[in-house]
Amino acid sequence: MASLSRAAPIVTPAETARLADRLAAVARGEAFLLQGGDCAEAFAENTEAHQRANLAVLTDMAAVLARRTALPVVAVARMAGQYAKPRSRPFDALGLPVYRGDLVNSIEPTPAARTPDPSRMLRARAEAAGAMAVVRAFRPGATPDARARPGGVSELYVSHEALVLDYERSSLRADTSGPEPRLASGLGHFLWIGERTRDLDGAHIAFAELLANPIGLKIGPRTTPEQAVDYVRRLDPHGEPGRLTLISRMGHTRVRAVLPAIVEKVTASGHQVIWSCDPMHGNTYTAANGYKTREVRHIADEISGFFAVHRRLGTHPGGLHVELTGDDVTECVGGARGITEADLPARYRTACDPRLNAEQSMELATAVADLAAA
Ligand code: PEP
Ligand code: MN
Repeated sequence: MASLSRAAPIVTPAETARLADRLAAVARGEAFLLQGGDCAEAFAENTEAHQRANLAVLTDMAAVLARRTALPVVAVARMAGQYAKPRSRPFDALGLPVYRGDLVNSIEPTPAARTPDPSRMLRARAEAAGAMAVVRAFRPGATPDARARPGGVSELYVSHEALVLDYERSSLRADTSGPEPRLASGLGHFLWIGERTRDLDGAHIAFAELLANPIGLKIGPRTTPEQAVDYVRRLDPHGEPGRLTLISRMGHTRVRAVLPAIVEKVTASGHQVIWSCDPMHGNTYTAANGYKTREVRHIADEISGFFAVHRRLGTHPGGLHVELTGDDVTECVGGARGITEADLPARYRTACDPRLNAEQSMELATAVADLAAA
């Protein structure tokens, strides 16, 4: 713990403050939030080539969105800290303790590799620092040969799920710049609380409410409108536009039925949250050949439903949260190349959930841009 606390922060307070400003604009309906990257970053995949490929897809998507909507797009990578995974079951199909992300144990299917190893937290810190260096170098103008990125995508931020609290609390500093004294995390610009750890009486919500950073909360189909308002009051007690992003992940069959009452009740509370759509996590299923996957048309349909709900209620459909990679993987079904379940084994590389590949991501960006511009 002491060595973790001594490690240099990954992000600066000034950058985090700038993101908070940008997110306030999103909450007011003046910008769009695009968040995406690997489900789980893996130490072995932490190469500059992989990271740059992911950032290229994210910023290319952002450019499409910015061009079509004429709104600035705030790009936030799931990167430089996305090493811990919440799991639904403690054991895998082989009866081994489940893989919980490289921060905790190894994906290798042996009892020894699956035993949690705290020294992995130190490795994660070093990997995150390396990834952040790639992000900084990728920003436009960072180096003379940096790719030109048109359309208002000038900044890049990093985010991850705040899951392992022993890790998360290792880089906190007092922050008195806001309406009350808080703790600024140096581990990422934006942190979110996941669907499995959002118990209102639990440690993760208690942690999130102390943070000075902008925060996200995943809300699934069992979230009630009353709970949503409880979250908003807890996590945005001073009514700061964009402090809280509610990331709905309802599933394409449920979003149209479940989301409206939540949006209405939160809007009536007067809090200006960002409404973001995660069209991935409510649409996961196991294919006949055993691969965990998602269909692009289900993902697209959840996004359509999300936009339809917000259009009807007059609220801003302000964000998209996706799992993607620039690597040429076959993890999600569908898209222009018509990836089928039988194609999944060819290049199924994810350490956790299935990601959109570059082509599927760009198709989706175009579809979202059409909805957002409509
Ligand atoms: C994730 O974002 O990888 C994740 C586990 O999401 P959720 O908490 O929404 O299930
Ligand atoms: Mn995931």
